[in-house]
Order: sequence, then C-alpha cells, then structure tokens
Amino acid sequence: STSTIVQCSKSVCPYCGTGCGVLIEHDGDKILGVRGDPEHPANYGQLCSKGMTLAQTVHGPGRASMPLQRRDGEHWREHDWEQALSDIASSWAEIYRDNGPQALAFYVSGQLPTEDYYVANKLAKGFLGTNHIDTNSRLCMASAVTGYKRSLGMDSVPCSYEDLESTDCLLIVGANVAYAHPILFRRIEAHKARRPELRIIVVDPRRTATASIADLFLPILPGTDVALFHGILHLLIWNDWVDETFIREHTQGWQELKQRVQEYTPQRVAEICNIPEHDLRQAAEIFGTAPRALSLWCQGLNQSAHGTDNNVALINLHLATGQIGRPGAGPFSLTGQPNAMGGRETGGMPALLPGHREVTNAEHRAAIAELWGVDALNPEPGLTAVPMYQALERGDLAAIWITCTNPILSLPDRKQVERALRNAKHVVLQESYLDGETMPFAHWLLPAASWGEREALVTNSERRISHLQAAIPAPGTARPDWQIFCDFAHALGLALDRLDVPLPDQRDRSWQERAARMFAFQDTASIFAEYRRCTQGRDLDISGLDLTILDTQGPQQWPFPEGAEGGKKRLYADGIFPTPNGRARFHAPDHLGVAEEIDAHYPLRLTTGRLRDQWHSMARTGRVASLFASAEEAYLHIHPQDAQRFTLSEGMLVVVESRRGENIYRLRLDDSLQIGLLFAPMHFGIRNAPAALCNTVTLPAIDPYSGEPEFKHAAVRVRKA
Ligand code: SF4
Repeated sequence: STSTIVQCSKSVCPYCGTGCGVLIEHDGDKILGVRGDPEHPANYGQLCSKGMTLAQTVHGPGRASMPLQRRDGEHWREHDWEQALSDIASSWAEIYRDNGPQALAFYVSGQLPTEDYYVANKLAKGFLGTNHIDTNSRLCMASAVTGYKRSLGMDSVPCSYEDLESTDCLLIVGANVAYAHPILFRRIEAHKARRPELRIIVVDPRRTATASIADLFLPILPGTDVALFHGILHLLIWNDWVDETFIREHTQGWQELKQRVQEYTPQRVAEICNIPEHDLRQAAEIFGTAPRALSLWCQGLNQSAHGTDNNVALINLHLATGQIGRPGAGPFSLTGQPNAMGGRETGGMPALLPGHREVTNAEHRAAIAELWGVDALNPEPGLTAVPMYQALERGDLAAIWITCTNPILSLPDRKQVERALRNAKHVVLQESYLDGETMPFAHWLLPAASWGEREALVTNSERRISHLQAAIPAPGTARPDWQIFCDFAHALGLALDRLDVPLPDQRDRSWQERAARMFAFQDTASIFAEYRRCTQGRDLDISGLDLTILDTQGPQQWPFPEGAEGGKKRLYADGIFPTPNGRARFHAPDHLGVAEEIDAHYPLRLTTGRLRDQWHSMARTGRVASLFASAEEAYLHIHPQDAQRFTLSEGMLVVVESRRGENIYRLRLDDSLQIGLLFAPMHFGIRNAPAALCNTVTLPAIDPYSGEPEFKHAAVRVRKA
C-alpha cells in the first residue's frame, strides 16, 4: 500500500504573541496540515487566518538550505558549514584582535526560541565579552519592559488571558487586537456577547476593527497618551474613585503625581487629545467605577519617543484604583512577537542578563559569571537597535550577526540602515528564507531550521511557556539557530587561538577549550536545564519546570519554582511589589508630544501598523495567495477630506514624503482615520512593493529609557505621483 501515515506534533503558531497552540499534521517529511490545538489554553483550538494557513508557508522554493557567501554584487556561492564557519570565525577573530569585542554586535529577534536566545546571549556576553546584543523586540515591547520595571519593579506582566473573561471594564489603548492578536479579540468578543454589561473603551488615532466592539471610542491625536491618562486620573481623584487604602499601603510617589495631574484638567486634556470633554469624563467614570478593570496595550503606546512615559502613566491608573493582582484586573501589555518575552527572560537585550538580571548590577553579573565559568562580565550596557546601526555606520562597530529578522525593512529610517550595513566590515545573516531585503547586504547567509523543523521553547503574552515539537527535517543542511551559535563558538575558539589572542581570564587554557566547555549543548533540554538554573530565586523562577512537565501537563505560566504544582495566573495578589521597599511606584511624566511635529512643509501625520492577514516582512505570509485577498498591495490610507484638500482620489498613485525619503503608494480613501492622519502598512518590502517600504519615511527618534523608535508618527506630505 502507498497510503501515508499521518503523524501529529504539538507546536505553537510562530506569529503573534497570543501563542496559539497548533497541531502539525505531517508524514515525517512534509507538513500536510495545521489545525488549532483544542487543549492549548491560549486558543482552545481556534486559529486566525494566518495560523490556519501555516502549512502553506513551509515548503517550496525560497528556503535557505546551504551556507551562502556573497562574492560580488548579487552573486552567491554555496559552501559547506565547516568552510563557512571557519571563514566567518577568521574575520570575527581578526576584528576581535584588532578592535576588541566592542566592535562586534548581534541583532536577533523576538521570533527566536528561548534556547537560541540563551545561547546567543551567552556567546556575546559570556564568551566574547560584548554586550552589543539587541533584538527586534526593541521595536516592539521595550517600552513596556521599562514601564513595568519603573512602576512595578520588574518586567513582569501580571495578568492572564482568563482575566479577559472576568473583567467589567476593558481599556484597550494603541492596540488593534482584532488584527494583531485575532484570537484574543475573539475571546473578548465572546465575553462581550455573554456579558453585554462589560464596558469596552478603545483609544486609537484610527477607528480600527477593534473599535467596532467599543462602547466608547476615543480617537486621540497621536502622541497624546500621557495627557489622556493624566486627564483620566485627574477625574478619578476629583470623583473619589481612587483606592486610598491601596495607595497608602502599596505605593509611593502619590503626592508628586497628584500635583502633576492637577494641571491636566478635563478641558485642557480634551484640547490636547482633540476629543470631546464629555467622552473623557465618560472614560474616567467607566474605569473608575468598574469593580474590575483591565487594560490592554501594544505598539500604539510602546512605539513612541515617550513610550515609557505612556506605559507608566497607564499603570498609574491601575495603582491609583488598586486594579491589579485580582481576577479581571491589571495592566496587561500584549506581546507582539511569539517569543519577545522569552528573549527578555534569557537576558537577550544589551542591558540584561539571564533571569531578569541587569548588567549594571555587580551581584547579578557575579551570579551569571559564576554560572558561565568566567571571571567577570562587562558592566556597560551595550547598544540598543537604533544606536547600534548608527554605530555601524560611524565605524564604531565593525561586524554584525543578524538572526531571524529583516532590519532593512523593519528599522526606522531605512536609508540609514542601508548605509550602516554597507559600511560594515562583516555582516552575517542567519535566516530560514532567501531574498529578504537584508540579504543583499550580507557577506554570509547561514541557513536556519524553521518552525516545525526543530523543537523549541517560547513564552507568550501571559507568561506561558510552551514546548514546540519538531515535525519534519529542515531543508538541506539548515540547522537550529542555537546549534549554529554553538558551532560558531567552536570555530571562533580555534580562530582566536590561531591568532594568539589572549583569553580575558585564566579559567581555560585556550579559547577552544573555553568554547568546548561553554557550548557543549547537545539539545534543547540541555540548554533549558542550564537556563532554568539562572532563574532560581528570581521573579520568573522556573526551577520546578522541565520538558517532561511541559509535555505531560501542557504549557505552563511562570513562575514555577521547585516544588510548585503549577504556574501562577496572577502576580502581585499580595500587594507586594519587587521594588526595594515592596511598594509600586507612581511616576509623573509630563505630556511631551510627538518627536516630529507637523508644519507647513510636512502638514500630515503618518502612522504605520499591521494588516490582519500579513505578518512582519511577509517572509511566510507573503507565500500564501489567499492572505492577499484582504489587501493585495500596500495602500496609503487617507481621509476623504484630506484627499479632496490635496486633489487626490481613490486608486491614484501618490508619493508620500518625509525628511528622510519618499514612497509610492496607491491611495485608498478611509474615513476611519482622523483628518490629517495617513496610515501605511508595515509589511511590504522590495519583493512585493518596491517603492512602499514604510520605514523609508519613519524617523529614528527613540524613547530615552527604552530605546524604542517612534514608528507611530512622522510628519509627511503627499502629492500625485
Ligand atoms: Fe497565530 Fe496569533 Fe493568529 Fe494565534 S492569533 S493563530 S498566534 S497569528
């Protein structure tokens, strides 16, 4: 008989931070289908349009299967791994010898599994001694990280998805959940249908699909979030809707904040935000009188030059009303990418070390140095994404290793990123797909195994860790990312020894010996075992969790310390926060507006964001024809009145121009926008819309605390093409 034996492997959708469980149906060689995992607590079997079409993204042309070296121009030559790694290691060892480890950088991704993040971080910070390792999560969640840390003391999301179903008030700010986290949106819709008394407030400069379920929609001007939250707090205080007992017993900084929000009168805030004062008052009443209030936010707050301020000002509302640590209550930031949280856990950012530790903290450094078996770790935080590419352009960095991300498309001010990569002495791109926009700038392309082809660990938005099984082999010689990093460490050890580069301490006799000791990992389990030791005694302690528990009892939320029977649904239920005195902190930022205001030359505001059926730079979703049905090309959305003002009409080709560059789009009239605001999708690149890379026009302004860029606002003008 030739009948195929269909097997089933448990996995998680590799797109958004919802982290839906999927079952991969395969024959051991090919993925035949993907369906929702009815047992996974994130989605209970449901999948959105992107998750449902995953099977169509794996096979076919365009997958990286052999190491490739760019010889000149566009010509690539295949090599075996040994040759590739030895060549790259020689270049990196020379740079290390001549310029020191601070000339080397890594730029990784919130789509990398936890074990890859851990090994990359150990390679950069532990082996090489450079803290220049950042991730594209910098473009996504960094402001939520700094917001949580400043307000609550730790980068810990306190809520669970279950809270969506037990709340009385949902404040959704700067998050188009219907498009970016569709399965969570379905859970919200179902809850609203069951309990119509649930009040939903949606705050967004655009009337997005998410606003369709709002009882109250506040179309604030971009960049006015802090003013809005202060205005709401002003009214909460005025109406005595704050929780004085919670404030007295569990917080600090209240008096300064109270003084600050005095200035934010309803009238003034309504003017700043350009919303009716009555709506502001209604928002305060809904939030202030709800027995349980939950807020959800995403890039609308985070991707701002004041993203941290936006976050702390929103968290203020929860602390002032005691709406935290209880079912249905709390500040709940949604993670954009599937493992942005796992990256933060393993220290995959330039100021972090594994287990939510800081490179600037001597005790934290000592703990990790001990675990890694090195004398000392570098105490200086490395460069975050935007400054990293600026340093590359200046020549302060010589080499960069880019993994699982496409910076030419996704970083702001694309032309600057192009200059930076052109100026780099050595660029390594570790990728699963060929022909991304960054590939022409790489000297080497290393093929990485992708989703379904390797086991993996990821943490979703509600702190839930899932174990993804491998279903099929990777194409050609592609390897899991952690294995590439380990193999490179061994090759680098050899190259450094050949150049007689001295070791930073006496713990090993040679670099090769050090690499063999530090990168002896054989599989995901051995990496996870070492990583878990880093978490012991920390807020995210998972010392009681192992792969067997994940496989037999299903995905688990952290913390899960030794002896625990299960993970924790909610943090801070006892009102004790991980700050030195156990109190959460109010912060009192001022409203500062956008980084680049509109003016007579650039009179329109451009905001960027996701489409429902595409994911990031479309390496996967761009291969599925049906996902183009809802948006077949990159449109520039404009309000009909603005179109009239600039004598433009539907379907016309237009040029949108900022101080950094210009793009060409087909125009789509859209009255869900406010007048003066344009919207461009973030996904389209050179492959599918050569002149519509939205980050050609965005600006590299970043938040001073989080380093997150302001993707949500740029001053532009528009004209007929
Ligand atoms: Fe995948 Fe997110 Fe859709 Fe779930 S909601 S199927 S994780 S894209």
